Amino acid sequence: MNWMPEERLRKNIKELKPYTSARDEYSGREGIFLDANENSFGSVTSDLHHRYPDPLQWEVKHKLAGIKGVRPDQIFLGNGSDEAIDLVYRCFADPGVDNVVLTPPTYGMYEVSAHINAVECRKVSLDANYQLKVEAVLEQVDAHTKAIFLCSPNNPTGNALEAKDIQAILQDVNCLVVLDEAYIDFCPEKSWVGRLDNHPNLLIMQTFSKAWGLANIRLGVGYASAEIVRIFNKVKSPYNVSGLTQQTALEALGNERKKNEFVEKILSERHRLAKELSKLECVITIYPSDANFLLVKTLGAKTLYDYLASKKIIVRDRSNVVLCEGCLRITVGTPLENDALVEAMRNAGNLIKIG
Ligand SMILES: *Cc1c(COP(=O)(O)O)cnc(C)c1O
Repeated sequence: MNWMPEERLRKNIKELKPYTSARDEYSGREGIFLDANENSFGSVTSDLHHRYPDPLQWEVKHKLAGIKGVRPDQIFLGNGSDEAIDLVYRCFADPGVDNVVLTPPTYGMYEVSAHINAVECRKVSLDANYQLKVEAVLEQVDAHTKAIFLCSPNNPTGNALEAKDIQAILQDVNCLVVLDEAYIDFCPEKSWVGRLDNHPNLLIMQTFSKAWGLANIRLGVGYASAEIVRIFNKVKSPYNVSGLTQQTALEALGNERKKNEFVEKILSERHRLAKELSKLECVITIYPSDANFLLVKTLGAKTLYDYLASKKIIVRDRSNVVLCEGCLRITVGTPLENDALVEAMRNAGNLIKIG
């Protein structure tokens, strides 16, 4: 594999002279700061927020690097995972010329971002077990394929992809492979972060939005070679992660144990929820999950969805998605929430039967 990111860049990005912010040019902490046109007197709020944040978020990256066993320069931080997804297109894929390969059913943003960037999507659906059809994926790859998006554990199916299939694709192709590990905290032994150094074309995405319980702060993480990260940093907007977010992330990383306790609770509730749902007549299949949600094939998904919504229980109707006919995607809730869901589904199931 001799995939070198610098050689794969779009011409406009290769030639880009990046913006340098005030905090790029002088990064000391002490001094009289009259360089960034901030309000030197303070903020109108009780908390002080009048200074621009670190554009490269080094404190968060150092702490995260220690936890994940990578180097800080192998980490990209963005405004949610969506920023990293978008950067893949903007850096590597020429509009109207290049293409990417997706494996539906999967996370919708890969395709939306492709359309926004006028990049063609080639789709190779997963097989009946929601695993990769490796040969079919490889057949779609040509000289204009700039990335393959894989999601493991996959949304909305819940299962992790087989390591040997990911390995086969990584080794065979001459393009970027994006591995979205948004749900990896629920099966950490399946992460590829430890293998980053063996694969120059691998970009792994994780997020603080799921197991860490921080969807509100909008913090997505990309792990890749330092070269890829340098390119993303050149193209991203200068202060893409707010100081409030960086501060909260630092607090979170100092409390990893709490995240692990959440994961244990969620996994035990997932187990219980699957068992309870499997007793219902309206449930046909509960697919194996490595994540914090269950994909459930039901009788009358739309009717069930509407009934649940009328009881103020909101699940995700995935019944119109390929290979997910009749399926609801249900996030694991608290024990009380899960009890309410099961009870409502039992009542709805009886209605469907009568109707
Ligand atoms: C939830 C989710 C994300 C997280 O997105 P953020 O923008 O970081 O909140 C990323 N990928 C997948 C597959 C997800 O389900």
